[in-house]
Amino acid sequence: MSEWRAVNGLTIAIDGPSGSGKGTVAKMLAEEIGLPVLDTGLLYRLVGSVALARNISLETESPLAEFVESLLDMMEWTVDGICINGDNVTDTLRSEQAGEAASKVAAMSTVREKLLGLQRQLAQKGCIMDGRDIGTVVLPEAPAKFFLTASIRERARRRWAQLKNRGGSSLDAVVAELKMRDQRDMERHHAPLKQAADAIVIDSTTLRADDVVDRMLGVLERRKLITASV
Ligand code: C5P
Repeated sequence: MSEWRAVNGLTIAIDGPSGSGKGTVAKMLAEEIGLPVLDTGLLYRLVGSVALARNISLETESPLAEFVESLLDMMEWTVDGICINGDNVTDTLRSEQAGEAASKVAAMSTVREKLLGLQRQLAQKGCIMDGRDIGTVVLPEAPAKFFLTASIRERARRRWAQLKNRGGSSLDAVVAELKMRDQRDMERHHAPLKQAADAIVIDSTTLRADDVVDRMLGVLERRKLITASV
């Protein structure tokens, strides 16, 4: 059972670049306070990887926009990931190729607009939502926003450790790939990756995940957004 109870309908935004630890920390925090986690990166990964499979250009707005609409009708996004026609396809979306395709389609404003409503609708009952534009665009009214960072080397090292188990590439190649992804995410015109003015920045380069979660819990407790459950 969770040690903490979140106030009704609490939304928490966690943003940050790839490898900053958002996903890990969001899951750990969710266990502590009993809220569901919604990983918005999966939506962009789905659009990117299905578009790739169907030979739809990742860099042209109009065919992508139509395609996203039909994809939304077929898919279900829950705390357990993404299902298409009833099959959970989340694991297939974790590849580097899907991440790369995601960051290309994520630069398209029509794609982002079509995914925005779904994200806001699911957040309504309270959740921890992680992504790139949650604090700035998706949930600008969230009462708690965190922006996670870590040095590029450390973020690449974390990614590389995951990839090695899957026969992945060299550390230098991962650094280069992350730099490209950061640049694309930060320099895009629509909803670029940036911290919200009222976000709390946590640099996790030398922190363990549970230290990051402790800092978050401290903020939530001070703001009376969580209370100790008895
Ligand atoms: O977080 P994850 O690595 O799964 O995200 C994949 C890509 O999806 C990111 O590089 C980014 O381009 C895009 N994304 C986004 N906005 C979000 C979540 C992800 O643009 N809220």
